[in-house]
Amino acid sequence: MESLIEQTIGCPYCGETNEVLIDPQDAGDQYIEDCQVCCRPITFNVAMDSMGNLSVTVHDENDVF
Ligand SMILES: [Zn+2]
Repeated sequence: MESLIEQTIGCPYCGETNEVLIDPQDAGDQYIEDCQVCCRPITFNVAMDSMGNLSVTVHDENDVF
């Protein structure tokens, strides 16, 4: 069983840092979680690179994919 990975991201709205726990099982997925500071919905994209490193990118809700 893989453990959760702690990541620090910057909120796309207020710029404050948020510590989030990422489940490696979520690689390739996208989900929304509210900023802990300004409570606006941040879109998280979880990706796994070819080295097996987990990376997280964040977007505001108005970004188009
Ligand atoms: Zn925020």
